[in-house]
Amino acid sequence: MISAPPFLMAPGADAAVVTPCREAATLFQPGERIDPSPRDAGHAKGLCNSCPFIAECLEWALDTGELYGVWGGTTAYERRALLRKRGKSSAG
Ligand code: SF4
Repeated sequence: MISAPPFLMAPGADAAVVTPCREAATLFQPGERIDPSPRDAGHAKGLCNSCPFIAECLEWALDTGELYGVWGGTTAYERRALLRKRGKSSAG
């Protein structure tokens, strides 16, 4: 199970950095290819709002097309909507 976005776990990343998703991983990603319940997702999104990496995390999730879990304060559904919007706005 992923407990933090890979950019926080990359070689050279500060292993001491504590993020809410490292502390309560199952709220964010309860398992591989499983989304959290709406209740847990709402709680996780609230915790993301206190995370200093929220913007970077959201960009990572959008760039990598992360399909499950809460990342950067968004659910998978919300990220798909953001990607659709971006696709439309970049189409000209
Ligand atoms: S924004 Fe949320 S999912 Fe991303 S690192 Fe922070 S707590 Fe984890």
